[in-house]
Amino acid sequence: MAPPRTDAPSRIVRLDTEIQYVKGVGPRRAEQFAEHGIRTVGDLLCHLPFRYEDRTQFRSISSLREEEWVLTRGRIAGIGGFEGRRRRISVVEILVRDATGSVRLKFFNQPYLRSVFKPGLDLIIYGQVKRDPRAHGTLVLMNPECELHEQETGPRVHSGRVVPVYRRLGDMRTRTLRQIVFGIVSNLPPDMDDPLPGYLRRRYRLMSRDRAFALLHFPLLNGTTREARNTEMEALNRGLSPAHKRLIFEELFQLNVGLQMIRSSRTRLLKDRRLQISENVREAIKKILPFHPTVAQKRVLKEIADDMRSPSPMSRLLQGDVGSGKTIVAAQAAILAAENGYQTAIMAPTEILAEQHYFSFRNLLTPLGYRIDLLKGSLRRKEKDSALARIAAGETHIAIGTHSLIQDEVEFARLALVVIDEQHRFGVVQRGVLMEKGHKPDVLVLTATPIPRSLALTLYGDLDISVIDQLPPGRKPIETRSYEPEDREAIYKEIRRVVEDGHQAYVVYPLVEESEKIDLRAATEMARHLEREVFPDLRIGLLHGRMKSAEKDSVMTAFAAGKIHALVATTVIEVGIDVPNATLMVVEHAERFGLSQLHQLRGRVGRGAAQSMCLLVADARNNPDARRRLEIMCETNDGFRIAEVDLELRGPGEIAGTRQSGIPAFRFANLIRDRKGLELAREEAGEFLGRIRRGGDEECLRLASLIRKQVRERYGWALIG
Ligand code: ADP
Ligand code: MG
Repeated sequence: MAPPRTDAPSRIVRLDTEIQYVKGVGPRRAEQFAEHGIRTVGDLLCHLPFRYEDRTQFRSISSLREEEWVLTRGRIAGIGGFEGRRRRISVVEILVRDATGSVRLKFFNQPYLRSVFKPGLDLIIYGQVKRDPRAHGTLVLMNPECELHEQETGPRVHSGRVVPVYRRLGDMRTRTLRQIVFGIVSNLPPDMDDPLPGYLRRRYRLMSRDRAFALLHFPLLNGTTREARNTEMEALNRGLSPAHKRLIFEELFQLNVGLQMIRSSRTRLLKDRRLQISENVREAIKKILPFHPTVAQKRVLKEIADDMRSPSPMSRLLQGDVGSGKTIVAAQAAILAAENGYQTAIMAPTEILAEQHYFSFRNLLTPLGYRIDLLKGSLRRKEKDSALARIAAGETHIAIGTHSLIQDEVEFARLALVVIDEQHRFGVVQRGVLMEKGHKPDVLVLTATPIPRSLALTLYGDLDISVIDQLPPGRKPIETRSYEPEDREAIYKEIRRVVEDGHQAYVVYPLVEESEKIDLRAATEMARHLEREVFPDLRIGLLHGRMKSAEKDSVMTAFAAGKIHALVATTVIEVGIDVPNATLMVVEHAERFGLSQLHQLRGRVGRGAAQSMCLLVADARNNPDARRRLEIMCETNDGFRIAEVDLELRGPGEIAGTRQSGIPAFRFANLIRDRKGLELAREEAGEFLGRIRRGGDEECLRLASLIRKQVRERYGWALIG
């Protein structure tokens, strides 16, 4: 069966044809398209129908049955309804008739429909059949979707086939869009550049690209039985028809080829240094550990050391649940560099974290004679200049800071290793910039955002991955409970109990930009309330991002030294903070946090041998998603399990890390639903690039440069050389 074609004189359009030159568009509509990011024919073709309707067969009105979703048509025979007082409610009611009978349609609060529906007009109607309790239980369709049914001459666009239903764009409704898209797909050239090599299309029986685009918008059903057709319709409506699958595979394949290209272009870079691991180095590394490393820590350290000794720069992701001991491993890697006479830069997403790292690295490493410098915004010019001078002279072994560390003014004498902590704020592009900088440093990215492996391999597809899949011994799972805001007394009791046991507590408030002032006030007031009314005998601290750096320092230092019993904080403490004596985490307004955030916050406790506890204070009565989040938090401590539920609840666009990973939203693929396809695409991308390395045939070489170009355009990864 051929894809739909018109008999109209062909007017070839290409994917890069500007939308305004398409038949039926023009400058005014082009502007509306542009507002939705649609500039070319290709962009519009990627604007997927949100539903398909099988309009090959309409149901006759007399055959409609209660509860069925149906497609029917008929002529408007009468219009009625009423308008409530002060227009609070309006009902437009119309009677539609065909040769077999009549049925009523009711529209609530859409009074303008009165001027659209006129007796004598023909309608196509889609909706669910109900019994109307207000009209003696007769059948009715409530708020069905309707389209005027004009008799079509020429090719049938709106009926007699499976039709796409689009979301409205500007003032263009589905019918207009359908007409425009139909014009396009009827005129797509069959020789469209296809980024999927022929052998892959054959291997997976994937259709050509032009055909996929045509069928994506104007599907043809192959089934001859009703069941078969229903199955096909269902696949279409779930975005999994053969046309969808072809484009999903293409999207995943391209992405993976792009990422692997970045990766291999890095392995072609050569460092001008080789690190040795002598006995001295081994000894130095061992000395910093006040405990035995876990098996997992040993394994990943070896992977890192091997990379650091290899000729091309490391780009490795170190994944491990909160508290699994990533920082220690990073410190060991830094020693490896230092003992070979090289410098390490450690970048944290926030100043507080940079400071935290500074303190822990200083505690670990200064006694052994390593020199550590912290670069932060609040340094006085003189302090900063002298730190910069030490770094430039190579006296500093480890420089710690925020992103400013890779700014131009910082010159390293002998930079060998860059550690990026909590990578979810640092994407593919920035990583690339770093690699390109003078020293071709080894890059180690630390992340506690647990995502399933198949996803990690794509989201961080430009990196090698090491996993610490084990917690240090003696950790007890953090007991987690949820409370309603009214249970305040119970919560205060827990805080008191913990403090009396010699431990400390966090009380965390959400801080979101939209309500920053209110949130800050809430945290500040809570701190004051606790201090004056609830725990006049305890020391309460307050920490938030708006405080001056020196204030933050002194609060954090006091808390780490055990001089503050309870620390009220905004989410500035979300990542990385390590005070093992803190054993209670109270999260206020927990309903406002996402799962991975809650997990991160909880990870601030349970860092020592004592039993820790996390209390989630939430009003989740009318929020089923929030309830589910609280449930899973109370149920498990396993970051990977939590990540999976997070994926289910949030959907693919929202996966922690996706936004920041530098990979824009997918057009066809859905990273959760298509996990299998993702795996396959990754393997095939590897094989494809392998073919090219071995010389490749003409098609492969042509496609490689096509993909390179497309990936650059879409993702802006300049590194793909
Ligand atoms: P992460 O950065 O992975 O969240 P950290 O490196 O901050 O974890 O380590 C969490 C805590 O566990 C720290 O107090 C650290 O000193 C301690 N720790 C790390 N590795 C071990 C180990 N092998 N045995 C005992 N304690 C450890
Ligand atoms: Mg950490």
